[in-house]
Amino acid sequence: MRPLLYGIFWIGIYLLIIIAPLLVLLIGPIPPGRGFWREFSVGLGFMGLSMMGLQFFLTGRFKYLTSPYGIDVVYHFHRQISTIAFALILLHPLILFISSPVTLTLLNPISSPWWMGGGAGALVVLAILILTSIKRKEWNICYESWRLTHALLSIVVVGLSLIHIEGVGYYVQGPLKRWFWIGLVTTWILSLVYVRVIKPIWMLKRPYTIEEIIGERGKTWTLVLRPEGHPGISFKPGQFAWLKVGKSPFAIREHPFSFSSSAMKSEKIEISIKELGDFTSTIGEVPRETRAYLDGPYGTFTVDRHTAPGYVFIVGGVGISPIVSILRTLADRHEKRPLLLFYSSKTWEEVTFREELENLTQRLNLRVIHTLTNPPEDWKGERGRIDAEMMARYLPENRVDCEYFICGPDPMQMAVKEALQKLGLPLEKVQSESFNFI
Ligand SMILES: Cc1cc2nc3c(=O)[nH]c(=O)nc-3n(C[C@H](O)[C@H](O)[C@H](O)COP(=O)(O)OP(=O)(O)OC[C@H]3O[C@@H](n4cnc5c(N)ncnc54)[C@H](O)[C@@H]3O)c2cc1C
Repeated sequence: MRPLLYGIFWIGIYLLIIIAPLLVLLIGPIPPGRGFWREFSVGLGFMGLSMMGLQFFLTGRFKYLTSPYGIDVVYHFHRQISTIAFALILLHPLILFISSPVTLTLLNPISSPWWMGGGAGALVVLAILILTSIKRKEWNICYESWRLTHALLSIVVVGLSLIHIEGVGYYVQGPLKRWFWIGLVTTWILSLVYVRVIKPIWMLKRPYTIEEIIGERGKTWTLVLRPEGHPGISFKPGQFAWLKVGKSPFAIREHPFSFSSSAMKSEKIEISIKELGDFTSTIGEVPRETRAYLDGPYGTFTVDRHTAPGYVFIVGGVGISPIVSILRTLADRHEKRPLLLFYSSKTWEEVTFREELENLTQRLNLRVIHTLTNPPEDWKGERGRIDAEMMARYLPENRVDCEYFICGPDPMQMAVKEALQKLGLPLEKVQSESFNFI
């Protein structure tokens, strides 16, 4: 199936599952109605819960599900939809209380039935879940602690909601409805089992050894990974994988990194990591022969998805990593089409892969435009950030037909996209990879 059809197919399935609890209500004996607003609020609650359950799938990195859109889009969707699910679940009691004020007595913890605790608890935990996700960076919550708590709280929310539904018991009576809910909850649990148990077991059988750690310019380290007892990973240039360093693929700590080696050489995989935080800053000290695991490949940031007469790459800092993989792959494929790379760095000394890019210009029809934000006095090349004027000086005449790939810090990506629009280039020709989408 083509990616577009795949995309439409999964959206259809998603919508169907969200409304499935409502459709199932209509099957078999229907309990007497309790007024429009009450039933409406119950419907919203069911849909909100269904959305929450589906979040396990959205974050499960199922390749069939993520490939039509790109995993970054799926993660964005996951974030946006959790707010909508929260709104629906919140509207459920609000509408109930406003339309039928007598139900406010349910808020009294002494007299209210036990299942009310489930509903109220789910709402509070969900609010905490969303708030800690939105404020994670602002509140300096360590990524790993947040991720573990996030997973546990999600299970608590769904568990408490199910307790609430079972306790109310109004629309879940009858064998068909029971089996529907059992089936739905089982798929949620299975998706968790797949992510936390089956996938790590699969990875356990496909380990890698860190053969070498090469220091690169610009506080960057290249890990050379040798597959042990398997042929390695087959990826498209520009894609990335989640890396776990250490003995166990069950460990919670993993980080996404783009491949920097050629996609034509799956027997030795390279990943280039820039020192940034607690994990990346210690990567240079990892001993050789340490075990590692890769979960991938993921991502749609690849020239292999876009045919064009020429490619333009616009890069800032460590954003060079997926681009160097693309260039190395194209060189191994004896690519003849014209390639243009705009590469922004702070200083000349810090230009990661400087010498490798020089080599690649000998093997490809490639022109590299370096621009420095902190150039030496005798620097003859471009200075400052990449903007429309700078690009206009080098872009080929058939610029509208070329495909553009941007990888760098988010503010740079936004500025470059604006500049490309200023140059009259359609945004559908522009692909970008954010290292910050999580
Ligand atoms: C698709 C993609 C490709 C990437 N490719 C590269 C690459 O080729 N080279 C490179 O140097 N960097 C790459 N990164 C960025 C890299 O993943 C982060 O720099 C790294 O995870 C930071 O970890 P840290 O603990 O050292 O930093 P911290 O200071 O702890 O974290 C800095 C920020 O990085 C993010 N982060 C931290 N830990 C994780 C994690 N386990 N999973 C996801 N995000 C996390 C969080 O947003 C956090 O706020 C890529 C990121 C993505 C999303």
